[in-house]
Amino acid sequence: MNHNHNFSTGDNESLSCKELLGNLSDFIDGDLPEDACQELQRHMNGCQNCRVVYDTMTRTIYLYQESAKETELPDDVRGRLFRTLKLDDLLPKTPGD
Ligand SMILES: [Zn+2]
Repeated sequence: MNHNHNFSTGDNESLSCKELLGNLSDFIDGDLPEDACQELQRHMNGCQNCRVVYDTMTRTIYLYQESAKETELPDDVRGRLFRTLKLDDLLPKTPGD
């Protein structure tokens, strides 16, 4: 072993489920090099188990991002909400407001 590779490519199995799952978040984040991505893709083509995990993970991330968007209120909406709730003392004071 004189090279620093994430995957053991010595045997016939391109990579194991454990190796795939260990690199899955990097794969989804796009942090893996091209050849590693191809290995993961090839494994998932033949492994329904890992495909299900991948689908679940990407869907969870998607839902998380969607819900994060919804909870992030624009400033004017938050201001109106605070005023409606008579909490505007808690808002930062802006000159001329
Ligand atoms: Zn697998």
